[in-house]
This record gives sequence, structure tokens and C-alpha cells, in this order.
Amino acid sequence: MESCKRGALEINQQSIEINQSLCTSCGDCVIACPLSAIEGIVVSREFEKNTLIYKEDYTPIEKELLIYKRRGLNAITLNGAPLNDKWKFVLAETNRMLSQLDQSPIEVVQRKYDEKVSRRDFFTMMQTGGKKLAKNLTPASWKLEANEWNLANYYPEYQFYTVELDKDKCTLCKACFTFCSQNVFQLKDTSLQIESNNCVNCTDCVDICLEDALQINTEIKGKIDYQEPIHAKKCLDCGQSFHSLQPETVKCPICVQRDPEWLSPYQ
Ligand code: SF4
Ligand code: SF4
Repeated sequence: MESCKRGALEINQQSIEINQSLCTSCGDCVIACPLSAIEGIVVSREFEKNTLIYKEDYTPIEKELLIYKRRGLNAITLNGAPLNDKWKFVLAETNRMLSQLDQSPIEVVQRKYDEKVSRRDFFTMMQTGGKKLAKNLTPASWKLEANEWNLANYYPEYQFYTVELDKDKCTLCKACFTFCSQNVFQLKDTSLQIESNNCVNCTDCVDICLEDALQINTEIKGKIDYQEPIHAKKCLDCGQSFHSLQPETVKCPICVQRDPEWLSPYQ
């Protein structure tokens, strides 16, 4: 919804609706959706060889340019007019991220027109180069399927988001494990593994956690597999077995929250 400049997406109680009278098929939501829930072809983008043609009527997002870069994009082509401020900002931010990812920057080039081409030369060029030109304008590498808009697939050695877990607050209720569609949380025999490089920043886990134990930080880092040992415990109050990330915990989450004045249901 934030990415749609026309306000064409509406969330109802049970579904997300696209208001077709407002939607211009720009494709911004397709690119921005972290879970690839919206499918479609981004028709508003135009390419020429390995460059993206600058158009003032939309502004790409950093994620989009980072993905194009890995698919071969090396420049943005101008048609005379300079980049507007919004494009300049996104390009500067993208190039800052590319330098963190050990990649060369995306450049800005001016389209070259050969004013001396004669009418005859022009038609000869169109005949011989027509098919090649058409191929260059819409290469398959720029037609992305919905599931191809995931940054993690293009930069596997890096993580764009870091999932931070507060061990003091987490009760290992597993709600986030269940809700995370990217399998970021892996429960092993004696440890909890968090694979932040798979995180797409959908924030489902943050929303579902009743303990406010999760935070997503947006910062590019080399890939880190975080492991936290899980301790098997017996509750001092009720005697039930439970698991905790804290070795010194002596009460299970239910007894921690129970009012000490209440009669214990276990005794
Ligand atoms: S939802 Fe919160 S409390 Fe439950 S396992 Fe995840 S981080 Fe821990
Ligand atoms: S924000 Fe949370 S739920 Fe979403 S992908 Fe990342 S870890 Fe999974």
C-alpha cells in the first residue's frame, strides 16, 4: 500500500483489493511486496541493451535497481533531460548499497543520436538491425516473475535484514516460527538457528510476537548464521518441563505470569 502512489490498494477485513479504476499497472507494488503476493509484469520499465531508460513518470526503488544490476544492468540512459531529485536520491542510495555489496556502481549515460545518418542509411539500419533492436528493447532478463523479486536470491553471501531476538523476553512460544514464510527460524535439537539472510522484512514475526521480543534491523552485512542454545528446564513452581533460552530461568512462562496470590492449579 505504501508503494502505490495512486492509492489503488485497499485492505478489507478478509482480502486486499486492487481498485482497477485507480491502478495504472505501473507495477510498483509487484516489486515492493516482500512476500511476492502480487503477480504481474512491470510494463512501465523500458530497457535498451543493458540500460534502463529514464522516465519521469515513475521512480524505481533501491531493491529494483539492485536486482536489475545482478541481471546485467550497468547504466541508466537519459533522453536529454537530467535525472530528477527522486531518481538521484534512489540511485545514490543504490550505489551506496552496491559498494557495500562489492559491486560496481550504476552509471548515468546520455542517449547518443547520430544526426548525420541519412534517410537511406536509416532505412538500411532498420532493415538489418530491426530484429536485433526489438530483442534489445525487451530482453527476457527484464521480465521477472513474482518470485524473482527476492533480493536474497541475487546476493546470497549477504543479508539485508538482521532479525534480532531478545533472549530475556522470548518464551519460545513458536508463533514466529510458524508465521515466518521464509523459514528464517529453524528449531534444532538443542538450539534455535536464525537465518537472517532469508528475511524479506515482511515484519509478520514482529507483529505476532506477544512478548515484543523481535526487531528487524535494515543494514547490509555479510551472511551470519545465528545460533542460540536452548535449555531444557523443570519449573520450580509447577514441576512442568519447559524450554528456555536463558540457562538461569527457574519458572515456566505460565508461572512467571501467574499472580503469586492465586492458588496454584498444579499444587
Ligand atoms: S513469537 Fe516471540 S516469544 Fe514466541 S518464539 Fe517468537 S520471539 Fe519468542
Ligand atoms: S520479517 Fe520475520 S516473518 Fe518476515 S521474513 Fe523476516 S523473520 Fe520471517
